[in-house]
Amino acid sequence: MVSKTDPDDIAKSPTGDAYLLTPGPLTTSETVKQAMLHDYGSRDGSFVNLTRDVCAQLLDIADARESCDCVPIQGSGTFAVEAMLATMFSQKGKLLNLVNGAYGHRITEICEYLGRECVVLEFAEDVPVDVEKLEQALIDDESISHVSVIYCETSSGILNPLEKIAEAVNRYGRALLIDAMSSFGALPLSTRNIPFTALAASSNKCLQGVPGMGFCIVKKEALQSSAGNAHSLSLDLHKQAEAMSKNGQWRFTPPVHCLLALAQALTELDEEGGIVTREQRYRSNCQILRDGMRELGFRPLLPDELQAPIIVTFHIPENPGFEFQQFYDRLSARGYVIYPGKITNADTFRIGCIGDLGSNEMHGALLAIKATLKDMGIENL
Ligand SMILES: *Cc1c(COP(=O)(O)O)cnc(C)c1O
Repeated sequence: MVSKTDPDDIAKSPTGDAYLLTPGPLTTSETVKQAMLHDYGSRDGSFVNLTRDVCAQLLDIADARESCDCVPIQGSGTFAVEAMLATMFSQKGKLLNLVNGAYGHRITEICEYLGRECVVLEFAEDVPVDVEKLEQALIDDESISHVSVIYCETSSGILNPLEKIAEAVNRYGRALLIDAMSSFGALPLSTRNIPFTALAASSNKCLQGVPGMGFCIVKKEALQSSAGNAHSLSLDLHKQAEAMSKNGQWRFTPPVHCLLALAQALTELDEEGGIVTREQRYRSNCQILRDGMRELGFRPLLPDELQAPIIVTFHIPENPGFEFQQFYDRLSARGYVIYPGKITNADTFRIGCIGDLGSNEMHGALLAIKATLKDMGIENL
């Protein structure tokens, strides 16, 4: 057994919970948690206003208030991705899905369930989407109507060149669907320089709210012409948007507390200085983590230039004394939760740098990792 009370515990969170250095759910601020200490009726005027304000703020993050609608949807991020695919891309269309990790594969799987035609352009998990190959695929197959891409592929932490991808898709007259789950609110994504038809994201990643709702930001004309596309009653963005435009209400029980938390999280994003400042904090977290882990002898999967400042994948060290489950358990007993790897071509684990965490917590995590290696009897990796 690993002792819960450790003399050299460094930074415990104010609630006593472990810090979550994961891809989400993430560590949220105390004030975000406190915002949930209310009960609102879903038809209540104050809740209707809250939904409207939150949606307007989400649109502002992408400079999309003029050209797009924000449609919230109950559930986790995958529900929003599935609703986006089901509603924005019909049985008549054909999707070119750009894949370099597990979340890309998930889009293919969703299309299989939905009975939508999907062709895949796949890259290795440590290689970003190649825009020239994308262009060639669009030239070769004129029946492709839509292209989907993961902005930050959270399974490795790799950043895809979204601006170049969007420019190419637009130049060839196709519609772009973006999974911006682990990037929205921290990485640049504006309608000013990134033409897209729809994006999907959720409350609990870079926006630093709690889990429970996803949302899609959708071009107004595309949403208006999407009636009848969805296969599903609950995952129909068109129907959800139509109901909301009538009375401001969600069609089914809304995640009230999640919305209260998200409203507070958006206020805190603003107070932090917006997404530019948030990106800087995540970049600094990421740099502290990569530098500190390298110093301890760990090897990151990706070179600096391909790394998004969201989550870092490390190789499992070859030292025979290093057993991941033991490392994980001991580290979480010290107050830091990390994540197993999610790529298929190497043995890895992941450490996130997003959420309500700053340099103190990142340095704290490194000290805890150092102490954990010592506990495991590992002097040098
Ligand atoms: C987190 C995430 C999702 C959604 O995952 P859920 O577990 O359903 O919230 C989708 N795509 C990416 C890139 C993600 O990081």
